[in-house]
Amino acid sequence: MSAKQQSKNKSADSEPNPISSDSPQPGNRQNGAPDASSDAATAGSPISSVNPSPGPSTLAVHAGEDRQKTCNSITDPIFVASTYTFADTQSVINYIEQKQPREEYGRYGNPSERVLERKLAALEGGEAALVFSSGMSALVVLLLAKLNAGDEVVFFDECYHRSREFCSKHLSRFGVVTRQVAACDYAAMEAAITPRTRLLISESPTNPHLSVVDLERFADIGRRRNVETLIDATLGTPYNIRPLAAGIDYVLHSATKYLGGHNDLLAGTLISTTKNLEPVRKLRGITGAINSPHNVYLLERGLKTFELRMQRHNENGLAVAQFLADHPRVEKVYYPGLPSHPYYEIAKRTMRGFGGLVTFLVRGADWQQTARIVDSVKIPRIAPSLGGVESLIEQPLVMSYYECTPEERRQYGIHDNMIRLACGIENSADLVADLKQALER
Ligand code: PLP
Repeated sequence: MSAKQQSKNKSADSEPNPISSDSPQPGNRQNGAPDASSDAATAGSPISSVNPSPGPSTLAVHAGEDRQKTCNSITDPIFVASTYTFADTQSVINYIEQKQPREEYGRYGNPSERVLERKLAALEGGEAALVFSSGMSALVVLLLAKLNAGDEVVFFDECYHRSREFCSKHLSRFGVVTRQVAACDYAAMEAAITPRTRLLISESPTNPHLSVVDLERFADIGRRRNVETLIDATLGTPYNIRPLAAGIDYVLHSATKYLGGHNDLLAGTLISTTKNLEPVRKLRGITGAINSPHNVYLLERGLKTFELRMQRHNENGLAVAQFLADHPRVEKVYYPGLPSHPYYEIAKRTMRGFGGLVTFLVRGADWQQTARIVDSVKIPRIAPSLGGVESLIEQPLVMSYYECTPEERRQYGIHDNMIRLACGIENSADLVADLKQALER
């Protein structure tokens, strides 16, 4: 920790958090004040001397937080201010000249968000994190910050449909070319790279097919071809996969899902180096794609149980996938933890668990017979999204892909008899019993 960082931490009633090395109180003008998130590293702190790599729950509970907080509260306060006052003109000048890190205006950040960003960076094993109003705003601001007219991006085609839509319908209006190649076709990805390619993008696992990207191979293509890489690890989570350790440049999460975990907020996050994120931070400050202090608090709270929830999501996903794989009414199950899945070997090698999302096809069913199964379950609620404590079920045909033509659905691998079940944290025996009665009625 630098002397400058140390000096900005001093306050009468705050002592540094021994989990995250530091408790800065930074300002962050959109014109580039120091970055708080870079203090997320755990090295050199008292806890690191006990355990140099604290476990996910220790980080999720403690990282990024001051050990002693305002009014001695154990939880972080929610600062609802849209603006922050200066004692006098000299304070304004000190701030602008970056001599006094502090808050200035709500569009550039707020104190709760600084804590959350340090926690997310620590959980992901990255240097810095940025929090956004949603997963989509994280992606949009990143792409707008990094790309110019004439630039190109290449992405694996199994992806969240709004990410695809933003690239193909909107980036194209600004002269950015996007090329889609089949998921996990590394030769096709290499072939699609041109001297104008700036970014390679994929989800892992993909949604809803659960294909698993070989992250080291993906990162290696980027390194060899001098192109940055982005993994949307929303389904993977920092518990199950480690993209940065594999050499990926940017990790994105829809924190609306497993990170928040309670189906009660929208948020997005990007994790990378401080330097990589600086232009993104500045553009976030201009666009206002920041999250609210209330949501930020909810996300911080949700994260405290992240590892416990992930363990249950993983357990439920596997139990449900195994049950479905053996059921005569089920034609096919997409789940990376099943030996029948084409990416089982890579998943087994690179994932700690396989997540809560299970997609399956109902044998010989048309869309209405499939819908009847969705309508018959008693525990999962019919809704889009995933990663929350409540199980959610949907038929992609009538949810995210209803507006598509049959030809487009064929192209995206969306079948009429496809069901996507996002297992929550209920007891797996109950989820299995519920599916059984819905399939057998
Ligand atoms: N990435 C993936 C894989 C998603 O599934 C979603 C939303 O479903 C997003 C990004 C967008 O996230 P948000 O809904 O938080 O904007």
